[in-house]
Amino acid sequence: MIEPKDDLDCCQTPKLADVLTIRDTTYESEILRRCEECGKWWFYRFLEFVSFDGPDDITQWYTSLTDEEAIIIKQAKERPDLSFLGEKDSFMIDNQGVRKVKGQPTYLYYGS
Ligand SMILES: [Zn+2]
Repeated sequence: MIEPKDDLDCCQTPKLADVLTIRDTTYESEILRRCEECGKWWFYRFLEFVSFDGPDDITQWYTSLTDEEAIIIKQAKERPDLSFLGEKDSFMIDNQGVRKVKGQPTYLYYGS
């Protein structure tokens, strides 16, 4: 798994810990993460498009969250409403590298 820690504008030496795993399958993950160094919250998404013609296409996103947003996600009994992620500055990592994007997907690609 790619860990683009150096690209996150978090702190000098980001150290991400999984706090809450909402979804974790072979092809898709949604994980609330927190930097153990600076306390910043990140919403992490992993998605693998399975291709029968070539190598699988893996894309990952990191979106920084406020404390409030992280608490709402942490306290949700079921998968929380993540639609706000679509508007927030995010990092997207794929085989082209890392780039800043507006928002990340807010739904499960493979369904729940
Ligand atoms: Zn940090």
